[in-house]
Amino acid sequence: MGKALVIGAGGVASVAIHKMVQNSDVFEEICIASRTKAKCDALKEKLDGGKTKITTAQVDANNVDELITLIKQVKPDIVVNLALPYQDLAIMDACLATKTHYLDTANYEPEDTAKFEYSWQWAYRERFEEAGITGLLGSGFDPGVTSVFTAYALKHHFDEIEYIDILDCNAGDHGYPFATNFNPEINIREVSANGRYWENGNWVETKPMEIKRVYDFPEIGEKDMYLLYHEELESLAKNVPGLKRIRFFMTFGQSYLTHLKVLENVGMTSIEPIEFEGKQIVPLQFLKAVLPDPASLGPRTKGKTNIGCIFRGKKDGKEKTYYLYNVCDHEECYREVGSQAVSYTTGVPAMIGAMMVLNGYWKKPGVWNLEELDPDPFMDALNKWGLPWKESFDPELVD
Ligand code: NDP
Repeated sequence: MGKALVIGAGGVASVAIHKMVQNSDVFEEICIASRTKAKCDALKEKLDGGKTKITTAQVDANNVDELITLIKQVKPDIVVNLALPYQDLAIMDACLATKTHYLDTANYEPEDTAKFEYSWQWAYRERFEEAGITGLLGSGFDPGVTSVFTAYALKHHFDEIEYIDILDCNAGDHGYPFATNFNPEINIREVSANGRYWENGNWVETKPMEIKRVYDFPEIGEKDMYLLYHEELESLAKNVPGLKRIRFFMTFGQSYLTHLKVLENVGMTSIEPIEFEGKQIVPLQFLKAVLPDPASLGPRTKGKTNIGCIFRGKKDGKEKTYYLYNVCDHEECYREVGSQAVSYTTGVPAMIGAMMVLNGYWKKPGVWNLEELDPDPFMDALNKWGLPWKESFDPELVD
């Protein structure tokens, strides 16, 4: 059916590419391009030999001209951006210049300020419409599946959704005192920022990790979780009519939090460059270099993730509560694709989003957050491609 150019060859890209190769009727050809070509070649070597034709290339995705040259040479139907959030705008510019569909899993962040917002990418909407190309923003799990869950709840279960709590639990144990499950730099920027939630039309800001709750997660049990700002709060607050409050909680163990506090206190999580032995270095980037590579956690991680949304609102004039979630097992993911569940739960929806564009269900000129599109074909694909969802009509609520 089509050809994808995947940019990035890290943890998430590896899962998405495994899944594309499993889905070779849709993904007839893939080009894997990244900063370090050896990582692309290693993936090709592992996955070559099936129906999907795989090629590789080297690219600096911060360089729009290089990207345009590559896209013109590969001629993909869609560019699947699984590099880092810093590259989003350059890749969107190259897609515009070549009239090629675009997908990513995380919103643009300037490298020098930890500022999470969609404004930069939403500004491309008209230009994508005029060029007749589709841009899917945030086709991972959160954002991504959580956005599709919301559209599904609204379409099938509610006349109006008033409250949403997104709960992201990772009960995996990798045996290290401290490691992050995806890119450490992106992860630490996210969790060390102030918390924020949206209530009655306003943002309410909290200190990092200020709001804590204990939740009894299905198939996992009780875990401490903390309120964080997460990018889908911005688009869902805008796209869900009548919403009164939306919050996001993520689980963290005590060891992770203690290490993070110490690293913060000694200045290792700072993104301000410092002079070190005659060279400018960013402490957080140095920290990334000494922490375990998230890709190396796969074989050591045991336990499950549970990510989902609790909705409260009205149906036919009556109060209704609905919980949609997915449970994923780290060891099963590793057996299937050689990665742990955090990469898996992001890489599978990236493949599905690209498929939705290639098969035409979501081929719609413009730039979209996933809750703006028909959730049904995506929900079916989640069940088919390894992230089956479960529902409960009487869940424990978060106070
Ligand atoms: P990794 O660090 O494992 O991989 C990133 C890849 O991008 C690496 O291969 C890296 O190359 C490549 N890259 C970085 N800079 C450039 C550049 N300038 N040009 C070309 N390639 C580049 O990250 P993950 O796979 O863990 O994460 C990928 C994305 O997924 C991130 O944006 C992350 O925020 C997002 N994510 C989204 C989630 C969701 O649920 N929505 C959850 C988890 C992650 P090199 O090998 O040379 O370093």
